[in-house]
Amino acid sequence: MIPTIVISARGEERLRGGHPWIYRADVAEARAAAGDIVQVRSPRGQMLGSALFSDRSQITLRMLTYGEALADEALIRRRIEAAIAFRTSLAIDATAYRLVHGEADLLPSLIVDRYGDYVVVQALSQGMDRLLPVVVSALTELLHPRGILARNDPRARVLDGLEQRVDVLAGDVPDAVTITETGIEYDVDLRHGQKTGLFLDQRENRAAAAAYARGRMLDCFSYNGGFALVMGRKCKETIAFDVSEDAVARVKTNAARNGVAIDARVGNVFDELRGLDRTGERFDTIVLDPPAFAKNKAAVTNARAGYKEINLRALKLLNPGGTLVTCSCSYNINEAAFAEIVYDASVDAQAKVTVVEKRMQGRDHPVLLGVPETYYLKCFILRKLA
Ligand code: SAH
Repeated sequence: MIPTIVISARGEERLRGGHPWIYRADVAEARAAAGDIVQVRSPRGQMLGSALFSDRSQITLRMLTYGEALADEALIRRRIEAAIAFRTSLAIDATAYRLVHGEADLLPSLIVDRYGDYVVVQALSQGMDRLLPVVVSALTELLHPRGILARNDPRARVLDGLEQRVDVLAGDVPDAVTITETGIEYDVDLRHGQKTGLFLDQRENRAAAAAYARGRMLDCFSYNGGFALVMGRKCKETIAFDVSEDAVARVKTNAARNGVAIDARVGNVFDELRGLDRTGERFDTIVLDPPAFAKNKAAVTNARAGYKEINLRALKLLNPGGTLVTCSCSYNINEAAFAEIVYDASVDAQAKVTVVEKRMQGRDHPVLLGVPETYYLKCFILRKLA
C-alpha cells in the first residue's frame, strides 16, 4: 500500500493556489508513517500529487509533485542536480554559496551550502531527514566534496520531533575552512558558526553597498565583519559592533588577515547608537544588519519598535549625503511593512531620505513566487539628503 493522505476541500484549494504546504487542520485522513513520501488525494479521491509527510509538525505535507506522478529518489537527485547547475550558471564571485534553497528549488526543507571543497546540509523535516542518504549520494557524485557536514541543529527540527545534531556524513570536515567572497578571505567554523557558518545571503548586498562606502563607517551587528570588510576598504575609518565576543574576535582576525583597518568592539547596538549620538559622533556610511527581531507573528509589534529605533538612531548619526544600508531578515515583516518602518524612522529623525536601491537575499537564495516564506531578507540602500 502506498502511504496516502486525504486532504480537506480547503487544503485542496490552497494547494491549487500554488502553496506547497498543507497544514494539519486541512488533513482529513492519514494512512502514513513519519517521514513517508505520500500520495495526496482530494476528498473525492482524486490524485493531487505527492508530498513529504510529517506526523508532528503543523506543516503536515510539503508537496514534491503535482498530478499523477509520484516523487521518488531519482526525482530528488534530478532536482539537486538542477539546483547546482543553476548556481554554477550564476558565476558567483565567491567559493561559498547556497546550492539548494529548500522550497525555491522544489526540495522542501532541504538546505545545502557549499564552502569551497566542503558541503553543509540541513534537513528540516522528517521526510527530508529520511532522504539524507539520497542527498549525500547525489552531492558526492555531483561535487566530489572533501567532506559533508549535517548542521542539523536548528530548532525547527525539534518541532518536527527530530534531534538537534551535528554530524559528518561523508569524508572529513576540518575545524576551519578557508573561503573567499568578493575578494575577502574568511576562516569559517562550519560546526559552530551561525546558520551554516556564514551569512551567505548578504554577499551581493555587501558588494552593492561597497559602491557607496566612504568616509567614516559604522557596521552594526557585524558578526564576523562581512559588511565592514568589503566596505571598509573604501573608508577612512571603520567601527564594527557586535554583542558577541566571539564574533568580534573573528572580525579582528579577518581584518588583520585581509589588511582592512576595523575598530571592532563588543557592544549592544541599541545602547551604542544612543551613546554615539550623545557624544556627537557622526558617520558617512552606516550598516544595520540585525538578527530577525520577528521570529514569529507574536513578536511583530516589538520587532517593529526595534527596527524603528535602530533606523531612527542611525539616521540621526548620519551626515547629510551619507548612506544607510538597512536590512531585515524577518519574513514576518514584509517589504512594504519594512519600508513603512524605515519611513516612520525618517520622519522622527527629521531627515529627508531617498531610496537608492531595494535589494533582497542573493541570487543563490531565490524566492518562490506565492511562497512569502522564501522572501525573508530585505536590504534598502538609503541616502540622507538633509
Ligand atoms: N552583518 C553580518 C550578519 C549579522 S547577524 C554579516 O554580514 O555577516 C546578526 C548579528 O547580530 C549576530 O552576530 C549577533 O551576535 C548580533 N547581535 C544580536 N543582537 C545584538 C545587539 N543587541 N547588539 C549587537 N549585536 C547583536
